[in-house]
Amino acid sequence: MTNNGQLFVITGSSGVGKGTLIKKFLEKNPQIEYSVSYTTRLPRPDEINGINYFFVTRKEFESAIKNNEFIEWAKFSDNYYGTKISTVEKALKNGTNLILEIETQGALQIMDKFPNAKYIFIHPPSAQELEQRLRSRGTETEEAIQKRLSAAKKEYEISKLFTYQVVNDNIDKALEELQKIFDGNKDV
Ligand code: 5GP
Repeated sequence: MTNNGQLFVITGSSGVGKGTLIKKFLEKNPQIEYSVSYTTRLPRPDEINGINYFFVTRKEFESAIKNNEFIEWAKFSDNYYGTKISTVEKALKNGTNLILEIETQGALQIMDKFPNAKYIFIHPPSAQELEQRLRSRGTETEEAIQKRLSAAKKEYEISKLFTYQVVNDNIDKALEELQKIFDGNKDV
């Protein structure tokens, strides 16, 4: 695969605020594209098909796995999430910088294929803060919250493989750090 655009892989536990962070970052950097993933999860009330995700059925997702359409995919909290090869190929061939916002299992699959991508892990200020954020979002059941908290513990271990670590304590500070990474001015 030709690699003219730069790939940025952003990972962080569910509830860490990476969605808001990335949204604000993209508003400031409209030249950077966001890779819209496919998922079997149901849309949240404010989510739009084709913008936040492509919402598909389990059958559609499994058929895309069979046809090798994903560059990476993972099962997370009982749902499938994946990035289409076509999304990444198109952006990189056009020389467009692309952000993939994915969880750790998917990021690990990408690390082999794209050693030159920039891997960024967004941390919560603390485990307690993460739990509070997940609860205050009010979009998940207790069972889903518990699954996400247990996933966060495992994800913390894997985060050590990421080149860049950003703590989302203060959003402006986190945005500044992200900007430095994207501009290539951030020491590892
Ligand atoms: P949520 O359900 O909160 O939107 O996302 C749950 C998790 O799935 C988040 O950590 C999010 O980053 C991750 N995710 C979203 N899209 C993808 C994808 O295409 N691939 C993988 N592996 N994870 C994804």
